[in-house]
Amino acid sequence: MNRTYLMADVVDVGTAPLPRVAFVREPTPLHQAARLSDALGVEVWFKRDDLTGIGLGGNKLRGLEYLIADALTQGCDSLVTGAGPQSNWAMLAALTARQVGIEPYLVHYGPPTVATGNLLLIDLIKVDRRFTGSPDRTSVDDEMVRLCNNLVASGRKPYAIPRGGASSRGAAGYVRAGIELDHQWREFGAAPSQIWLPTGSCTTHAGLVTAARWLGWSAEIVGVTVSRPSGECTERIEEISASCASLLDITTPADRPIQVIDGYIGPGYGIASPAGNAAAALVAELEGIFLDPLFGAKAMAALIDAAHEGRVSGPVVFLATGGAPTLFAAGKVFV
Ligand SMILES: *Cc1c(COP(=O)(O)O)cnc(C)c1O
Repeated sequence: MNRTYLMADVVDVGTAPLPRVAFVREPTPLHQAARLSDALGVEVWFKRDDLTGIGLGGNKLRGLEYLIADALTQGCDSLVTGAGPQSNWAMLAALTARQVGIEPYLVHYGPPTVATGNLLLIDLIKVDRRFTGSPDRTSVDDEMVRLCNNLVASGRKPYAIPRGGASSRGAAGYVRAGIELDHQWREFGAAPSQIWLPTGSCTTHAGLVTAARWLGWSAEIVGVTVSRPSGECTERIEEISASCASLLDITTPADRPIQVIDGYIGPGYGIASPAGNAAAALVAELEGIFLDPLFGAKAMAALIDAAHEGRVSGPVVFLATGGAPTLFAAGKVFV
């Protein structure tokens, strides 16, 4: 693998060049959803980041372009990260590390489970992975520290990434996506009034907010939390966005409040909800797009309710974030 070639590509924003490995087949499509728009009485467009082009696609690839490049810049030979057993993040982190010859190590919370969905895909590329045995998400963080220490002790140079890729570089992927989206809607001649997305670790949301403030969009960014209470999300988004803006050396006036909608987590993080499943079924039937049950489906349920209650005036862009592997995961993913 020619690393010099990979490192030649730098982000074209701000004044601080940021190394990037080009994983995403960009631009991902932006297209109208005619039948869903009719059903909701709101003009809906899909930004297809389920089609980012590595593995089965997904939003995490955008941040990984910068994170993996940073690992290469620092001369790291291994990548340590973690998440739940059905994590799209963990699968794509391992897959992209492998692409550039970095050895992936994964830590999952919970007990070892049967290899379906993302776990099956991770098995295919033979990743060293371990389970903490504890259902507590933060158990991953302690195990990651232990693992990194062991690697260092054996002469390796690990690159550790927090759960979900929540970091300034992770968010930078969605500043770049924001620029891409900006170009696309200029081509179509119409800016949306809102961009809807599922909000998990808050990295994607933070990147889009950074782009929106920097580029002076009139469009609102509306996140639907699938994990933490909205107040906590708002704080995290401000934090990640500020560190991302400073990394990119760009000015982002905090002129608009962050919007995060509560009430659609359902039975819990990582567990499908009846409202989400119904929303995903509607989108599959009308548009031929399979939203994942844990993120996209729940965000769509919120958009559908908002449309029915007359709280949305279009056009609206819905960010399809991927997650196809969890459609095939057994167990608690489906209610
Ligand atoms: C991780 C993930 C999200 C949420 O993105 P964050 O940046 O963690 O907020 C949404 N959809 C899918 C499919 C994901 O895997």
